[in-house]
Amino acid sequence: MEHLSMPPLSRVAICGGTHGNELTGVYIVKEMQRQKQDKVGSLSVTPVLSNPRAVDVCKRYTDTDLNRCFTSALLSSPITDSTPYELRRAQELNAQIGPKGSESAVDLLVDLHNTTSNMGLTIIMYSISALPSHIFKYIQTKMAPVPVAAIQLDLSLSDCYSLDSVGKNGFSIEVGPQPNGVLRADIFNMVKKAVDLTLEWIEKFNSGCTFEGGDIEVYSFVKSIDYPRDPVSGEMTAAIHPKLQDNDFKLLQPGDPLFLSFSGETVKHEGDALYPFFVNECAYYEKKIAFHLARKITKTIPTLSVKSN
Ligand SMILES: [Zn+2]
Repeated sequence: MEHLSMPPLSRVAICGGTHGNELTGVYIVKEMQRQKQDKVGSLSVTPVLSNPRAVDVCKRYTDTDLNRCFTSALLSSPITDSTPYELRRAQELNAQIGPKGSESAVDLLVDLHNTTSNMGLTIIMYSISALPSHIFKYIQTKMAPVPVAAIQLDLSLSDCYSLDSVGKNGFSIEVGPQPNGVLRADIFNMVKKAVDLTLEWIEKFNSGCTFEGGDIEVYSFVKSIDYPRDPVSGEMTAAIHPKLQDNDFKLLQPGDPLFLSFSGETVKHEGDALYPFFVNECAYYEKKIAFHLARKITKTIPTLSVKSN
């Protein structure tokens, strides 16, 4: 088994309100700020309200989706009078808790999101770093029997578009179903628990615990599927099929129903058996995404421990 050692983690950012109407993260961060919770042992913890303007109006964003603004190209683009608010804010956040890809970036960035899809608690991470996989394994073990899934995106650091890519390590916690602009205590408690377990993991790691490597199962993004549309008007002609609704992470076999058209016809899945997620996510209608599809893969992660000086 490969053994990796990494320096201790000294700075963590917990971000919420990256999407202003996803209220779990908004209130977890506000509560951390209210309690002036900025230290756990020797670890410095910074709670960050990522998009305060969108939080004020309880919308996902005001000009453009903040969580698509963190590619290296956008972070280095010049600011002009016509630059959207969220891109200015992305550059501010990058200066505060990054810069992305630099030594001054926070050691870990955790970004809190909600979905209207029935995804339960899901960790979304990029494949470029081993540390989020270990924290996922820890959260999954400690939260059982609550199911915890992980989605992996394979992108180069400069193409990673989400806020969590600004930290040296990072991941998003995505929890649903919860409507936009609504706060549910059960979901709040799940996310709070996952954040507390993340901080607990870091304390153990910093104090010299060895985390054994091994195999984990993750969903690897394959493609996005749009709603069926009228070829002329572009209007949607079908909704998610009742047999697919709420069935995130349940394997779709060829021939399984995907959509029910407004005239009553069923559109079926074709091609490889794949796993759907973000099924009927409210915010993805404007992106022309009805759901994403993933392959389940087994990933071998190395044993991890802190590098002693
Ligand atoms: Zn979100």
